[in-house]
Amino acid sequence: MPYLVKAKDRSAAVTAPVRSDGSLPRACVIGAGSSGIAAAKALYLAGIPFDCFEQGGAIGGNWLFQNPNGRSACYETLEINTSCARMAFSDFPMPSTYPAYARHDQVQA
Ligand SMILES: Cc1cc2nc3c(=O)[nH]c(=O)nc-3n(C[C@H](O)[C@H](O)[C@H](O)COP(=O)(O)OP(=O)(O)OC[C@H]3O[C@@H](n4cnc5c(N)ncnc54)[C@H](O)[C@@H]3O)c2cc1C
Repeated sequence: MPYLVKAKDRSAAVTAPVRSDGSLPRACVIGAGSSGIAAAKALYLAGIPFDCFEQGGAIGGNWLFQNPNGRSACYETLEINTSCARMAFSDFPMPSTYPAYARHDQVQA
């Protein structure tokens, strides 16, 4: 399935380390699910210092099956109901080898 986000609308890839601006207030990201990961990347690219706190032992949030955080609604047979091409991070498409609607473990990977 073709990638749905137009090139001009994709988030820039991180190709080199970005120095954070220590004069700025430090931001805090709560949670390292999809939203926290995207927020952390935006802050990093903007040079804003931040900490990201995750209560579970790993990132992935809902997409981490049997997440020790006890909050994931992921079940063994869960597949996405939005296509990979639509759901992927704009700068990090899911592999083209994935089915159109990936399994939860493929999303988490
Ligand atoms: C069954 C199901 C199917 C879904 N299918 C799709 C789909 O097909 N396509 C789609 O786009 N979306 C789908 N979703 C929506 C899904 O919620 C999002 O894809 C995505 O997981 C949301 O990311 P998030 O980071 O906002 O939340 P989450 O993935 O829930 O991550 C939140 C993170 O924050 C952490 N956290 C929470 N509170 C704290 C705290 N106080 N301190 C530290 N860490 C904390 C948690 O441990 C977790 O890691 C589905 C959701 C469910 C439940």
